[in-house]
Amino acid sequence: MSYWSFQYDGLTELYNRNALDIYAQEYFKNNPDDKATIVFIDIDYFKNFNDAHGHHIGDAVLKSAAREIEHYLGRNSLIGRNGGDEFLIVLKNRDNEAAEAEIKRLYESPHKVSCNGNDYKYSYSIGYVTYPDQGILYHDLARKANRAMYQVKLNGRDGIIRFEPDMMEQREIPFLSFQDVIDFLPGASIVFSADEKSNMIYASETFASFFGYTSLDSLWRHRGREFFGLMEVEYREKVWESVKRAKRFANAGNGKGDKMPFAFEFEITDEDGERIRLRSIADIRNSLMTGEIVTSFVFRI
Ligand code: GH3
Ligand code: MG
Repeated sequence: MSYWSFQYDGLTELYNRNALDIYAQEYFKNNPDDKATIVFIDIDYFKNFNDAHGHHIGDAVLKSAAREIEHYLGRNSLIGRNGGDEFLIVLKNRDNEAAEAEIKRLYESPHKVSCNGNDYKYSYSIGYVTYPDQGILYHDLARKANRAMYQVKLNGRDGIIRFEPDMMEQREIPFLSFQDVIDFLPGASIVFSADEKSNMIYASETFASFFGYTSLDSLWRHRGREFFGLMEVEYREKVWESVKRAKRFANAGNGKGDKMPFAFEFEITDEDGERIRLRSIADIRNSLMTGEIVTSFVFRI
């Protein structure tokens, strides 16, 4: 990996999580007497942009959000993409009032991106916490900003909330983002249309790593987005048959809306020409946005 990809997120050109981590800790270590604010931003219903308009529109929203955050919060700040649609920002050396005013200006700006003549509007859930009065360790502060952001989600999204200590007492809330949960799974999660085209609607980055690619974008660029098309030829017909069988079962309806997961195995060839064997646990779902889809968990065997 180049130095650049070690530090920066390829899509948004902001710091990646690791780089932000390092620079933020360094900043607090070297400037313990500063006042600072840590901001956590998550885009609301971001998945809908991917599902309804395609991954490239999701990407355009992420890039647009990154530029907006830079524009409104970028003066003397560390800005990172924490993964997925999450951004983490350290507003260095300003008092609470100045930081709050900046966050408010970002929040109140119009959030939209134009693509092929269409406008896509989005909103933010924003949580923040102040240093040193609400915490002194960077990781603790990041978690608290995340918790405050989560409170905005619980309240219905599209808002700004400052961290409050009693938020931490609600222990039932896990401090894992949706993205963490996906990344930490012992395999990849994928969603594709339940028809012969098997067009992939979603795949976690882990899926790309099975093929030796570092991002889903490069996997889709090089190999296409058809799930069946990614497998070795001799498996395609058989897997399609098991999807059809599952569809029949799902549509026959057993009155209780019960789900009956099904399993299949297949092989792929990775970038080094090596054959990799994968197993999938899958199910048929129906969503208004996507129609009939296969949701699946895929792991190496
Ligand atoms: P919420 O309002 O609760 O935040 O809902 P949400 O739909 O935004 O849910 P969440 O933040 O959990 O979804 C993040 C999604 O971002 C998961 C994944 O499908 C998608 N994603 C992650 N990385 C990328 C990327 O680089 N590009 C695109 N287009 N989508 C991505
Ligand atoms: Mg989101």
